[in-house]
Amino acid sequence: MNKLLVLGAGTAGTTLVNRLRRRLSDDWYITVVDQDETHLYQPGLLFIPFGLYTAADVVEPRRRYLPRDVDLVIGAIEHVDTERQEVRLVDGTVLDYDHLVIATGTHPRPDQTPGMLGDQWRQTVHDFYTLEGSVILHDALKRFDGGRLVVNMVELPIKCPVAPLEFAFLADWHLRERGIRDRTEIVFATPLSGAFTKPVAASLLGDLLEQKGIVVESDFYTGSVEDGALVSYDERRLDFDLLVTVPINMGASFVGASGLGDELDHVPVDRHTFLSNDHGNVWSIGDAADLPVSKAGSVAHFAVDVFTENFPRYVAGLPMEEAFDGHALCFVESGDGRAMLIDFNYETEPLPGKYPMPGVGPFSLLEESRVNHWGKLAFKWVYWNGLVKGRPMPLPTEMTMAGKHRPATKETAV
Ligand SMILES: Cc1cc2nc3c(=O)[nH]c(=O)nc-3n(C[C@H](O)[C@H](O)[C@H](O)COP(=O)(O)OP(=O)(O)OC[C@H]3O[C@@H](n4cnc5c(N)ncnc54)[C@H](O)[C@@H]3O)c2cc1C
Repeated sequence: MNKLLVLGAGTAGTTLVNRLRRRLSDDWYITVVDQDETHLYQPGLLFIPFGLYTAADVVEPRRRYLPRDVDLVIGAIEHVDTERQEVRLVDGTVLDYDHLVIATGTHPRPDQTPGMLGDQWRQTVHDFYTLEGSVILHDALKRFDGGRLVVNMVELPIKCPVAPLEFAFLADWHLRERGIRDRTEIVFATPLSGAFTKPVAASLLGDLLEQKGIVVESDFYTGSVEDGALVSYDERRLDFDLLVTVPINMGASFVGASGLGDELDHVPVDRHTFLSNDHGNVWSIGDAADLPVSKAGSVAHFAVDVFTENFPRYVAGLPMEEAFDGHALCFVESGDGRAMLIDFNYETEPLPGKYPMPGVGPFSLLEESRVNHWGKLAFKWVYWNGLVKGRPMPLPTEMTMAGKHRPATKETAV
């Protein structure tokens, strides 16, 4: 028997074992390990603070989404020994492998910022990247009666880098609905020089922040949280009544402890195939990998498309024929029942246009629409019923330029 061991049964791990089980012959024994029994639909965490979803809307039992003939082992992973080709769990279990896929994601680490886990944690200092955090923030927002709301991301990369922006847009809408927007200042504090990493999207999203009266505090490198203020390394101080932060995101600790990670415990891999730069039988896919593209569920999905084609060829000694292009496709909730859609890859930044049918849509790229918002809501059904079950999706794996156009920049438009 050949043994494939997949670490992490989140978006990437679950999709991958469903797809590979159908592709690999019966002499492949597949095991997947996760630390708990509950699969979390993370895009839904954005809606919980605003009372649009509850915790029950975003969790499902992991086993329900895994093939019957794939073994699920529940336990926290402690160490990978690449010499012996073994993985040790915290409870002492040892699992051996012929090929290993690390799909343990990336996770918020508030402990990495001095003062963040002080006595105001989950009182006036909140996160929404965990289920517990988003539920507690819902109560805090209900109690919030105006003042200064600071929305912050400490450092990049984080998973879903547009989620903090979406939170700011939804907070603007939510506080208007409650009639307290005029006595609330919303500040978006980001280490970036603008609203997003890529220029065209940064310009359009920046305009939207301005229209909504959200103040952008750019180039803000968070150093600490002190006495009701977020303080940057260059000693700028942002006092807050409520802080909603996205802490530093880091890969699982065992990755670093096993000598497999970079400084943030993400796994260095070939950006087109996900094969480890150092080991010919270790792979990493999804947020756990150090790919130079947004960490997102859509990236995990397109990456699995490529991996599923390449892996059976690689183990048969054939050249890998598919190359991942860094494709990412993300809805950006903008409040008032509207959203944008962004579609990009390693080479091409998000551009305006229509998706998936050129000129028709129905989704609009980099433009707010109600259809985009419905698309974002419908995605939860698609996630559970299509994506993680590894069913074929009518979306091209590679990004295409069809339907996109490059707008005149502000400079050339004058
Ligand atoms: C608020 C929010 C909104 C988002 N919105 C979107 C969106 O709109 N669109 C989009 O495409 N993406 C979105 N994302 C990102 C998306 O959810 C992730 O990119 C995606 O889940 C990555 O999949 P993954 O399998 O790599 O990691 P995960 O899904 O996080 O899975 C990792 C798994 O590894 C397990 N694990 C970790 N460490 C260990 C250990 N030591 N031992 C055992 N098991 C371990 C975890 O329990 C988990 O099940 C959002 C994320 C957040 C937080």
